[in-house]
Amino acid sequence: MDLKPNHNSPILSDPAPITKSRLGVHSNMLPYSAAPGVGFAPNLLLITRKRTGVLNDVRASIWLDAMKSSSPPPNRIAKDVVNELPSFDPDLLYCSWMVKYPSALASFDQIVTQAKGKRIALFLDYDGTLSPIVDNPDCAFMSDAMRVAVKEAAKHFPTAIISGRSRDKVYEFIGLNELSYAGSHGMDIMVSDKHSTNDQGKEVMFQPASEFLPLIDEVYESLIEIAKGIAGAKVENNKFCVSVHYRNVDDKDWNALANRVYDLLENYPRLRVSHGRKVLEVRPVISWDKGKAVTFLLESLGLSNCDDVLPIYVGDDRTDEDAFRVLKERNCGYGILVSSVPKESSAASYSLREPSEVMEFLKSLVTWRALEEGLNE
Ligand SMILES: [Mg+2]
Repeated sequence: MDLKPNHNSPILSDPAPITKSRLGVHSNMLPYSAAPGVGFAPNLLLITRKRTGVLNDVRASIWLDAMKSSSPPPNRIAKDVVNELPSFDPDLLYCSWMVKYPSALASFDQIVTQAKGKRIALFLDYDGTLSPIVDNPDCAFMSDAMRVAVKEAAKHFPTAIISGRSRDKVYEFIGLNELSYAGSHGMDIMVSDKHSTNDQGKEVMFQPASEFLPLIDEVYESLIEIAKGIAGAKVENNKFCVSVHYRNVDDKDWNALANRVYDLLENYPRLRVSHGRKVLEVRPVISWDKGKAVTFLLESLGLSNCDDVLPIYVGDDRTDEDAFRVLKERNCGYGILVSSVPKESSAASYSLREPSEVMEFLKSLVTWRALEEGLNE
């Protein structure tokens, strides 16, 4: 991949697909990464800008389904898993789900067997992966023990953080210079000079959505205004995208919040909404996501050869699925989904229950590699 300043922009030439725009529906009106089963009903394409009450209900219902699907409460179980089991036992259901997504700790030997003689490239999401999910997103601090574990991992493996947060914010939380950082869902990448294999060994910055900055700032101000009337809603400017958190919003107000966001976005055809864990993400309509960021980082770090590199991506969110999918499609590396409940479907290969297991996994990788390096001396 060309890292020079003239790197091709991934910005789509036609942000609103012609089939939808002709029908009066912008792509930003539809859930960007809707869950399986929450797909776009074909008849939705017939909705015009001047909506009827019935169509409003249909639209609201689809958004609400997408919000619920992206934000399962702790005791929510995937329907397909429930149907396969005679009784409702959360532990049994989780064990059943793990047949498809085995624990990365229990499968550790299998994973490192694939890594023998190869470099491991580590990609880590932040919220819900390295830090606990908390009510106030400004207080999603990682533990000192986790920071040490990540620091130790980065001594042995090129390590990058890929987060929906702004790069500055996630750096503030982590505070380690030896990592590469991709903020704003990969739209703001800084490759660490510690990892860089380019000629100068300098930091490389890549911001594929830089032209959207004024638009993002403008919509951020508007989102703050429309969220004011909804108790618990919190709007966060992540530089190249804006998060509307509804973790602290009463369930009965989710619909109203989504309506306001989508109504506003009708005025911004170059922006769209995707769904994360109790968060609506307003982002530019560009062909760029965490999966593309992984590909960019692998190439810019000189780690794209599957014969001698094993990438591992750990994340907990629907937006991490793009990265899991990239690894799966390359048939190179593993996605590890962090979840304490079964999820309906994932492109990940393995699972971990919670950040404490992520820490254990990182420590195990370091111990294994240190031993391997010692044996080879
Ligand atoms: Mg996350």
